[in-house]
Amino acid sequence: MQARRGGMMLLEVRDLVVGFGGRNVLDGVSLGVRAAEIVTIVGPNGSGKSTLLRAILGAIAPRSGRVMRAERLRVGYVPQSLSVDRTLPMTVARFLSLPHRVAAAAAAEALIRAGVPGLGGAQMSALSGGQFQRVLLARAILGRPDILILDEPTAGLDQPGSAAFYRLIEALRTETGCAVLMVSHELHVVMAASDRVVCLNGHVCCEGRPEQVASAPEYRALFGTGTGGALALYRHDHDHVHDGERAAARHHAHTHDHAHDRGHHAGHNHDHHHDPSGRGTDAGA
Ligand code: ADP
Ligand code: MG
Repeated sequence: MQARRGGMMLLEVRDLVVGFGGRNVLDGVSLGVRAAEIVTIVGPNGSGKSTLLRAILGAIAPRSGRVMRAERLRVGYVPQSLSVDRTLPMTVARFLSLPHRVAAAAAAEALIRAGVPGLGGAQMSALSGGQFQRVLLARAILGRPDILILDEPTAGLDQPGSAAFYRLIEALRTETGCAVLMVSHELHVVMAASDRVVCLNGHVCCEGRPEQVASAPEYRALFGTGTGGALALYRHDHDHVHDGERAAARHHAHTHDHAHDRGHHAGHNHDHHHDPSGRGTDAGA
């Protein structure tokens, strides 16, 4: 776990372009996630966060660019919104067994790991928001994923509820070693738990360690500063300048990374240049 930054690349997106009709929603997005890393994607509403996750999952075909996954990668997905008819009588255990039956012991263990031990007999309709999200999480970890992909998993929770959920994710990562790729709009809460934050607005505005991104001009232009940041999200209009600033932020981020990257790749390694399979198919890119 110590060599997290040097861990194996699990998935990598390169120069991804995704569009609907006449418009490109994602335009040249590159991103990589390594084993046991927590990467959080932040961005305003409509910035393409869910689209990026769905392209990574293979649910949307890109117009160009590539999504590469490590061989036999097991993915656990918690979607942004899951329409479960909460009026239908259904126990948590039954819900976990859809669409595939799971052993009772496996379901019980997933509920323990998700922080809701013994909830199997409860009715789905009786769950609090926080319990519901944990049950979705339990379902996502049933398959013992190498990477958990979560799309705004704390939408609808209050701030202490979100913070508790993020601590749970972090504990899961520590216990199981699974990587986490998460979309969030709750910036100041998310920041603490992430190894890396990627600020998305159709393209990658900036990325780096949380404190670096929080101080990057692109990030401030999108979200403002301090606790007003989360509100600024919904008032955002995209009128900030990019290119020079972006280069500066990236440079800053990577300079910092290298200072902590002892013994790996001797200083000029860039995450995006790695083959997620680790088998060197990069040359064919
Ligand atoms: P975010 O998750 O960052 O809020 P989305 O990825 O959901 O943003 O959406 C990005 C943009 O793409 C939005 O303008 C949205 O309306 C559009 N979009 C997403 N999915 C589709 C689709 N299936 N068909 C057409 N437009 C879509
Ligand atoms: Mg979304």
